[in-house]
Amino acid sequence: MSTYNGSCHCGETQWTVDLGPDDAKHILCHCNTCKSLSGGAYTLNVIIPRSALQFTKGGDALKTYTYKGDSGKSVHCLYCPTCTSHPYHHQEALGNDKIVLRTGLLEKAKELEPVAEVYGKDRFAWEKEVAETFSVMP
Ligand SMILES: [Zn+2]
Ligand SMILES: [Zn+2]
Repeated sequence: MSTYNGSCHCGETQWTVDLGPDDAKHILCHCNTCKSLSGGAYTLNVIIPRSALQFTKGGDALKTYTYKGDSGKSVHCLYCPTCTSHPYHHQEALGNDKIVLRTGLLEKAKELEPVAEVYGKDRFAWEKEVAETFSVMP
């Protein structure tokens, strides 16, 4: 288990997260919601226990954006009210104890390897495959 630090763009929201070797990875998500929320071609994520994430600054000030996921259940995106960086989201379909952490916001994001790609059906044609790809979610 290693502790990783994360921060939003403006620095008003900061957190630490404990990741075991199997969780210290990036899962690329190419879905159209991720494209829309991030402005990029995909997002970097991992599903972790909620208890692994601790906010050290600004946790109480986070705002929530909620939308309906493919499952029909709500997805809550938690974001910094000042700069809109989005440290994690909670998909009700995963149950209350799991959250989806944005691994791209961790200080050591460059050290983590991509382990899977989801929503490969929405991947841009010019993007190279970097890990095992699933059409939607495995
Ligand atoms: Zn911020
Ligand atoms: Zn996505």
